Amino acid sequence: MSPLLDLSTTYEFDDTDEFAAASQSKLGDGYVYSRWANPTVDALEAAVADLEGAAGSEAFSSGMAAIAGTFLALCEAGDRIVAVRQLYGGTYSLLSEMLPRYGIETTFVDVADHDALAAPLRGAKLLYCETIGNPVVQVADLPAFAAAAQEAAVPLVVDNTFATPILCRPIEHGAAVVLHSATKYIGGHNDLLGGIVCTSDALLEKIRHYTLEFGPTMSPFNAWLGLRGMTTMSLRVERACDNALAVAKALQAHPDIETVYYPGLEDDPSKNLADELLGGRGGGVLGFDVTGGKERAARFQSRLQLVKRAASLGGIRSLIVHAASVTHTQLSESELRAAGISEGFCRLSVGIEDAEDIIDDLEQALKSTD
Ligand code: PLP
Repeated sequence: MSPLLDLSTTYEFDDTDEFAAASQSKLGDGYVYSRWANPTVDALEAAVADLEGAAGSEAFSSGMAAIAGTFLALCEAGDRIVAVRQLYGGTYSLLSEMLPRYGIETTFVDVADHDALAAPLRGAKLLYCETIGNPVVQVADLPAFAAAAQEAAVPLVVDNTFATPILCRPIEHGAAVVLHSATKYIGGHNDLLGGIVCTSDALLEKIRHYTLEFGPTMSPFNAWLGLRGMTTMSLRVERACDNALAVAKALQAHPDIETVYYPGLEDDPSKNLADELLGGRGGGVLGFDVTGGKERAARFQSRLQLVKRAASLGGIRSLIVHAASVTHTQLSESELRAAGISEGFCRLSVGIEDAEDIIDDLEQALKSTD
């Protein structure tokens, strides 16, 4: 019933020739050394690849390791990436600050500008976006991005962390690579850190070569937690979507909330794309601006009781962050504005608690900040 947890870092051979042959091929069949391959990590890779409809996948020690590994495996000095600017702050600073040190530059485009991708994609190495962007939850028009990428003969790489394969399988919409922070919905309980990249055999070979040399391997225990988390992922995601929609509607009707960002709301700019790509669901994360800006947002957050002030998302508990001071600190004021993040913007990852309890907590915290 429970998946095998194999903590061995090394495997014994009876025969020296067999040992030598297995060590030579490293990524071939059989287990030699667990930075190269491990049965528990392999089981998680097979499960996530299957859910995403990919030929295979490679697990990493964190979501950032998976993202950095994908860029470094597919690009070299002198190459250029095209990415949307509405991204997780860590990915944005990896692209804008870290990768240029290694000779890899990025051209940023607006997620809504998918019609104007031909020029930036000329001579580029890959196109990158998030299915649902962190933190303002815009849905990317994956078929349009995939068409532009195909026209330019570059792979479309999609971070599917917020949507999960329960809501969207980007490969079906033309993506060549799909990756996740497994720390979020795959794990689901805020107790594992991991990342995973799903793709074709040809691209996987490059990515595996990278992990073998750079070593950002997932630990078997985290893979085991990921496998356990996946058994309830569809239930958790569906409940989080139902809860998030109820919370979004309640906040939209609240006089102290300026704007609610949630692709499941009828009047949200991403609603049509949510219908097309997410089966009409909006995901488990929403954003909102509290009237009164940053100070009022801080007072409101400090009075929450059920909803926890904590980084991360995609777990069973509702977590809230002030994006400009927690998850997107790497962005300057103008970059925050360009990414659509206002001063008082709060990102709420809705958990699987009772929706009414979450709404009551938000309402009492808003009331007591008057
Ligand atoms: N991708 C998205 C969309 C994220 O929100 C995050 C982290 O919040 C990451 C990637 C990075 O994942 P990790 O924290 O597992 O490195």
